[in-house]
Amino acid sequence: MSYDSQPPASPTPPTPPRRLGRLGRLGRLGRGNVTVAVAALVPTALAGWLVWQAMSGPGDGEPPKVVPLPSQSRSAPSPADAKPSAPTPTSPPAATASPSETKKDQKPDGTGPLAGKVVVVDPGHNPGNFRHTREINKLVDVGTHRKECDTTGTSTNGGYTEASFTLDVSRRLRALLEQQGATVKLVQNEDRPYGPCVDERARIGNEAKADAVVSVHADGSAVGNRGFHVILPALVKDGAADTAKIVGPSRELGTRIAGKFVQATGSAPSNYVGDGTGLDVRKDLGGLNLSTVPKVFIECGNMRDPKDAALLTNEGWRQKAAQGIADGIGSYLKG
Ligand SMILES: [Zn+2]
Repeated sequence: MSYDSQPPASPTPPTPPRRLGRLGRLGRLGRGNVTVAVAALVPTALAGWLVWQAMSGPGDGEPPKVVPLPSQSRSAPSPADAKPSAPTPTSPPAATASPSETKKDQKPDGTGPLAGKVVVVDPGHNPGNFRHTREINKLVDVGTHRKECDTTGTSTNGGYTEASFTLDVSRRLRALLEQQGATVKLVQNEDRPYGPCVDERARIGNEAKADAVVSVHADGSAVGNRGFHVILPALVKDGAADTAKIVGPSRELGTRIAGKFVQATGSAPSNYVGDGTGLDVRKDLGGLNLSTVPKVFIECGNMRDPKDAALLTNEGWRQKAAQGIADGIGSYLKG
């Protein structure tokens, strides 16, 4: 559906409200049960993590926690990075090739290790959401309950919005996957004034019959809370939601992404969610509950922590983040 009649998003949107962007206020519903589920899964997840680490190159046998951050990534972002900016759809990934080189490297249709695979990339939120609060606050059915259509997302203290971050990483991710021959669809590419709603985000992946779906986010948590985590769908069978068939493959997808994300970025798994595994399980997210294809979310870091924010606002780091996610998807799809 085209929304061309709407004006394009301003390149300097006002900073959204400083609400926590952690996937909406209703995100804590059922948390107690989820915590129990996570606790039950931790030994398995950690074992899987260590196996995966052992399989994945340098650092064999080393515990996944407390991976040192690259020193060059600790530097503060440049003023330009810190400003809210809507990346242009055509801007090439900074740490990869120029557009012409990208073209040259891109595999022709039907070739490449991911040829024939369909990946849907879901950039969380939408830079225009804050101008459409009535629409995005409308409740939609996510199976377990009704929740907001979408949220504005969070931002760094410097005003770099989560919506800008998710779009930038998602575009880099798309380029990397297409270079390997995958067919990639973005759920939104700043080509609509707001949304889509979380139920539609799930539907887009389902209708594409995606082999894998990744929803890209960054968290809005307390200072000192650092690192990334991947969110996996819980077993949910309620109303329109039935995740029975995707829980297993989604865990595999998420575990591989977490492992490759560590390798590519040097970031440690979250120190506040997932007990060091980099994995969380939730049953309150419509985008996961309503998915019929393997799907995970990734919270790439905490925008409200100054040290994480310095990474998230850095183009070079965002390219590494996209690379890590792409490597994880590729590993999952190649089996
Ligand atoms: Zn988010």
